[in-house]
Amino acid sequence: MYRMRRWSAKNSRVLHKIYSGVEGALVKASPLLEKIGHERLEKPFMAVEKVTKGFLFDSQSCGQCTLGSTGMSCPMNCPKTIRNGPCGGVRPTGKCEVKPEMDCVWVVAWEGTKNMKTEEQAIQIVQQPLDARKKGTSAWLREVRQKRQQAATEKSAGSA
Ligand code: SF4
Repeated sequence: MYRMRRWSAKNSRVLHKIYSGVEGALVKASPLLEKIGHERLEKPFMAVEKVTKGFLFDSQSCGQCTLGSTGMSCPMNCPKTIRNGPCGGVRPTGKCEVKPEMDCVWVVAWEGTKNMKTEEQAIQIVQQPLDARKKGTSAWLREVRQKRQQAATEKSAGSA
């Protein structure tokens, strides 16, 4: 819902804290998640993400969540699905050139980023091109796998 999406950017600071808390808890629980099996968890995780992120952010379930870097504004709501800043068509009023009834997703992302204060650098991270094969999969489980892999790499580099 558009109104909810705008509310989430206004409250990006607290929502980002909650979001990071959830991710942190899942990373901590990763041995258990692995025991159960990510394949088995994929559907229930996706269902929870779809409902919660869909309600709060109009998330389009791309499976490669950037909310923490985009002021809690989902870039997939951009009609051109641009993931690295606005196109050249943003109206002087901040409205979208394709859907003039809505604010440009990236104007909202900047507002949300400013509300997050300490996260202002995050919006400058260049996002990878979208991998359409990951659409409809759990971004949280993917994040858990990436963090685990990162920790394992750091550990093996430290012991070498
Ligand atoms: S104005 Fe903003 S939301 Fe609209 S197409 Fe351009 S970047 Fe996307």
